[in-house]
Amino acid sequence: LIEMRDVRKSFGTYEVLKGISLSVNDGSVVCIIGPSGSGKSTVLRCINGLIPINSGTIRVGDFAVETLKSDKALIPLRHQVSMVFQQYNLFPHRTVMQNLTMAPIQVLGEDPRKVRDRAAALLAKVRLTGKENAYPGELSGGQQQRVAIARALAMEPRVILFDEVTAALDPEMVSEVLGVVRDLARDGMTCVLVTHEMRFAEEVADEVFFTDRGVIVEHGPPATLFKSPSDPRLKDFLDKVL
Ligand code: ATP
Ligand code: MG
Repeated sequence: LIEMRDVRKSFGTYEVLKGISLSVNDGSVVCIIGPSGSGKSTVLRCINGLIPINSGTIRVGDFAVETLKSDKALIPLRHQVSMVFQQYNLFPHRTVMQNLTMAPIQVLGEDPRKVRDRAAALLAKVRLTGKENAYPGELSGGQQQRVAIARALAMEPRVILFDEVTAALDPEMVSEVLGVVRDLARDGMTCVLVTHEMRFAEEVADEVFFTDRGVIVEHGPPATLFKSPSDPRLKDFLDKVL
């Protein structure tokens, strides 16, 4: 479903991605781990066209992402690729229901009634039934993040990109959010997760990619990667975080 080939990206003279290649199969869960500043978030932003790349190719389904230059050209891609951020990025002056329904109605032009029914089902899925009319500020961090995940799902994407979605949460809220992600993974949603939660990565991932300074140093199934890492940089990283 996703295929990145030899992707390079510089900010000014600083090359952040130095030839990244990775692929994500339909229905699989891929985790990206690595030290701070290694380029993990940049990889996700390239996949959904938030930032243009300097060279290489990115395929998402039938889209050649690197050829989509305008915001308008990117709309169909964004329909298929949703992203959830560390800072939930909900609209603070809109209710939970409005947060879920705005983009499908206004961007995709869908029937409002259908969208609201779908949103209600999604709120049940993230265990937030009853919060339809709440404002984000009235919810806990974990609840807001679950709204953000439901909002991503409301676009009916083919893949969801998660960028450290539990990093800003108090410890007691981490598991409720990971639980929702786990449910999605089990339902067969294609997920690309940047995460510092190594145990979770080990549990849900079909494949793990370890990035360091803009390159993928090692990748493979979690059982191999975590239990018998071969590259010293990965060993070193796991020693620090596990
Ligand atoms: P973290 O774990 O801290 O989130 P990361 O692996 O997600 O790190 P990125 O956010 O992808 O790392 O950033 C990689 C490098 O690119 C960093 O050195 C960062 O400072 C730089 N960078 C990222 N975005 C920009 C930008 N818009 N302009 C300039 N430099 C940037
Ligand atoms: Mg990041």
